[in-house]
Amino acid sequence: MEMKKLDFRSDTVTMPTPEMREAMYRAEVGDDVVGEDPTIQNLEHLAAEKVGKEAALFVTSGTQGNLVAVLTHTKRGDEVLMESEAHIYYYEVGGMAALAGVIPRLIPGNAGVITPDALRKALRGENIHFPNPTLLCIENSHNRAGGTIWTPEQINDVAVAARERGLHVHMDGARLFNAAIAQNCHVSELAAPVDSVMFCLSKGLGAPVGSILAGSTEFIKRARKWRKMIGGGMRQAGILAAAGIVSLKSMTERLSDDHTLALEIGRALSSIQHLTVALDRLKTNIVLAEVDPAWGTAEKLVKALATEEILASDFGPQTVRFVTHKDVGKVDADKLVDALKRLMN
Ligand SMILES: *Cc1c(COP(=O)(O)O)cnc(C)c1O
Repeated sequence: MEMKKLDFRSDTVTMPTPEMREAMYRAEVGDDVVGEDPTIQNLEHLAAEKVGKEAALFVTSGTQGNLVAVLTHTKRGDEVLMESEAHIYYYEVGGMAALAGVIPRLIPGNAGVITPDALRKALRGENIHFPNPTLLCIENSHNRAGGTIWTPEQINDVAVAARERGLHVHMDGARLFNAAIAQNCHVSELAAPVDSVMFCLSKGLGAPVGSILAGSTEFIKRARKWRKMIGGGMRQAGILAAAGIVSLKSMTERLSDDHTLALEIGRALSSIQHLTVALDRLKTNIVLAEVDPAWGTAEKLVKALATEEILASDFGPQTVRFVTHKDVGKVDADKLVDALKRLMN
């Protein structure tokens, strides 16, 4: 019998639940481009209500949601500020430059968080030589920093500093529900200070496809047109939205299990030879382990784990990422820790 692979690469690998497949089968659908898909409309209303915004838009992916947000908030040639390792800069194929024509300006953060002071310093004064800064993007939870979180206060403070200079604020909340559960607050508290927010249904929330972009009614009206322009106008996509509704109704609370498991893994890994884990950063479902160069590289470790049917991501020359999600449990975590103990010795 083939052994089941333990997949810690990402929470994007989660499979739709039987309840989702059932809802997808039964979904009432219509042509959403002309506003006739009732299931999409239900999802968009529910999502807007959850994050406390007037309106929401179902998009194909987090990448599309972020790109549509940048297109809607900016004009070509504008400057968009973000943290140095922001997903939107690091992993989205340069879409904001190639398709929105904006120029990114990077601000080094502290565990992914930008302070109002750092933002004020990065914002240059009015000068004929400079591009117009019009948008700040923040990321919560912050992927490359290790799933670190922004508190509502931190978001509010940086949003105030951005508005002083007339900037809009977009939050890449691919894992927004993780960020909220981790600090026992509501997603709407995290979204309140920003103009727009994107979150993924297809990560820890388990849906097969899709993300949400939310904001004011006026913003979403313009965003809908940008989504259409870049090919995101989907027809009977209520089939997909039906799974997203299940995500929002029954998959958010369980994210705390993923966080508990991640912390258990992090603690176990930090006592293994040649591995270091920054436990102070481990707040959600992402575990970053630093591999001692004396042992080898991250790539070497990922390959060694794969021979044991365990999958992880190479996240830098010496960094390996393990992500917990609904399709890995305590038994899988124990197998991971055992394998690492054997391999690292
Ligand atoms: C996954 C992710 C995205 C992009 O989502 P896709 O659906 O994979 O395009 C954006 N931002 C962050 C922080 C992410 O982790």
